[in-house]
Amino acid sequence: MNSTKLIDSHVNFGHELLVNSIDKIVKESLDNDIHRMLCINSNLYDFNKDLTLVNNYSCIDISLGHHPNLVDIIDLIEIEHLLELHLNQSKKIIAIGETGLDFYYEANRTKQIDSLKIHFEVASKFKLPVIIHMRDSEEQITPLIKQYRDKVPNILIHCFTGTGEFAKKCIDLDCYFSISGIFTFKKADNLRKTLKILPKNRIIFETDSPYLTPDPHRGKVNYPKYLKIILSKYCDLVSMETKEMSDISNSNYFNLFSINN
Ligand SMILES: [Zn+2]
Repeated sequence: MNSTKLIDSHVNFGHELLVNSIDKIVKESLDNDIHRMLCINSNLYDFNKDLTLVNNYSCIDISLGHHPNLVDIIDLIEIEHLLELHLNQSKKIIAIGETGLDFYYEANRTKQIDSLKIHFEVASKFKLPVIIHMRDSEEQITPLIKQYRDKVPNILIHCFTGTGEFAKKCIDLDCYFSISGIFTFKKADNLRKTLKILPKNRIIFETDSPYLTPDPHRGKVNYPKYLKIILSKYCDLVSMETKEMSDISNSNYFNLFSINN
């Protein structure tokens, strides 16, 4: 691969497997041409911790949000309060999320929907894009994306693993998609098929470190440096040059998050 600069759009730097080695991870990332990363906040009570971790790195952006699987530890009123409080205090936040609907487990479905609506409302007030996490919830999330699509600047479906039918609906609603290492897994035939229909000008890439390590490193801790594998396997899948796709996805990242580059 000839010096292709890449952006990892989803890194959980606050995770216990990464939190103590940020310096090393950033250095390794830069050595591997990952020149920008987005630190994802997924627990509003941890935002200050996440911000302190990455505040001094100009190559790391940060998001603000509360993960659907964590809604039981927080009151809805507190979600709204903490979102607004941090948005008023930190200029580094480029997106709201991750928020969303995760219906893989039975718990808290109504509260997840209410939390997602609050994230959308605040994003619309502060004119920020929204990063959506979703699992087993295509039917329930589609009307919400429709309802809020024009109220927020952009919507990103992170770690896209949806069906072709859902992909088409999101394409019609002009959403962005981020592609993680899941499609490199042996059993991901359906996903590989669906990825081929996503428009190139709406695609960005992510590792979701420390989760979802791409093949052939599956089972180990994931790091942003493995983004190269994801890009190169995606380019194999759609018969494209990595340099061309990384240029496109970099400008998608800047458009999606309204960053002047
Ligand atoms: Zn997620």
